[in-house]
Amino acid sequence: MKVLVAVKRVLDYNVKARVKADKSGIELANVKMSMNPFDEIAVEEALRIKEAGNAEEVIAVSIGPSQSQETIRTALAMGADRGILIETEEELQPLVIAKLLKHVVEKESPGLVIVGKQAIDDDSNQTGQMLSAMTGWAQATFASKVEFEGDALKVTREVDSGLESIKVAMPAVITTDLRLNEPRYAKLPNIMKAKKKPLETIPVADTGVTTTTGLSVVEVNEPEQRQAGVIVSDVSELVDKLKNEAKVI
Ligand code: AMP
Repeated sequence: MKVLVAVKRVLDYNVKARVKADKSGIELANVKMSMNPFDEIAVEEALRIKEAGNAEEVIAVSIGPSQSQETIRTALAMGADRGILIETEEELQPLVIAKLLKHVVEKESPGLVIVGKQAIDDDSNQTGQMLSAMTGWAQATFASKVEFEGDALKVTREVDSGLESIKVAMPAVITTDLRLNEPRYAKLPNIMKAKKKPLETIPVADTGVTTTTGLSVVEVNEPEQRQAGVIVSDVSELVDKLKNEAKVI
């Protein structure tokens, strides 16, 4: 069985996002970019599935500009076997990403697709669900544990009321939650080896997928600035401020 893992190149989670002067989006020039953290968890899970003997090949897929090759190389350095880049300079909506992933699914016929529960740049939490709907495959979202049970998977999901266990037939789409695993660091020799692993680039135009959707970003704004806090000397000063300044009591 092949496992397909989607890896998105996003603004590194340690970098403070700055809005472009024309409010069209976030400034991405000359800032550190990394693999979406939930996708690192997806790669780790795919590798563990392969190491347990439940898969033969792990394929990392990214959709984005040529620099997304670096993100794929990171997945290869962690241990993925090969990569596929669908190259585009356009910023694409989750619906289009799901259609492009479906294109790769049809080409590769994996038994399992693992994606992050959300990309930390758009916070959409849509791609996995849309891919599941388009392929007609079962979906197990917000996975915090994945176990093989014959031809099926037992997946523990993090839901508001606690943990829910579901059984899904394969092929299936899984979306990863934070507590699924702790991703490994790529070791230096593996970073070197990753440079020689196969990475196929497909121009988005060759996929036949239309990249336009009915959704466009109107404007992006910085969050409102918070006022600096003050340290009060005692409880009576705190009560006084809450009464007379904040007027909340
Ligand atoms: P989203 O629905 O945008 O929050 O993204 C959910 C997941 O879909 C991400 O964690 C990735 O695994 C995958 N994904 C979204 N966009 C891309 C992309 N451009 N390239 C590869 N994977 C993506």
